[in-house]
Amino acid sequence: MQSVPSQAKALPYDALLKKAKDLGLRRLETSVLRFPSGRAAYAVCSATLEADDGSIYREVASVPAVSSSGETQSRAVEGACLKAKERVLEAFTGHRCKLDGPAPAQRAMSDVAPVPTQPRKTLEPVPNEACSECGAPLTYGHYEFSTRMFRRPLCAACQINTATSR
Ligand SMILES: [Zn+2]
Repeated sequence: MQSVPSQAKALPYDALLKKAKDLGLRRLETSVLRFPSGRAAYAVCSATLEADDGSIYREVASVPAVSSSGETQSRAVEGACLKAKERVLEAFTGHRCKLDGPAPAQRAMSDVAPVPTQPRKTLEPVPNEACSECGAPLTYGHYEFSTRMFRRPLCAACQINTATSR
């Protein structure tokens, strides 16, 4: 097979993902290891990559949550998941990931994940559903994030409770 030169050039995330698919990427998954809390204001996520030949790569990344708002914490979790995916793709392809502009985390996830995702209504600013635990109204960001991460709508506080009670 082709050998990867040690000075491989940096690729944008999309190109890195495409490269990985060319090299036999079968599965790319992330999981949240730590949700930001008052005690430890950072998110930790791991990414697992499985190749066609059965080899498994796993990387862990953390991102600090600069404030205690649920929005910021959710973003930190998304950021950590993306960073972990970049690292695992870097390890797999031998290319560095070059980040420019906002990261295409959601698109990349739906590109690769073979699991069926709920049909997503795009550009809907206000969700109809409230938090399924406590009934608090949700921002679209929380709604979108929690249904993806937890498979049900949850407010920031209930996301933290759910994440830490596992
Ligand atoms: Zn709630």
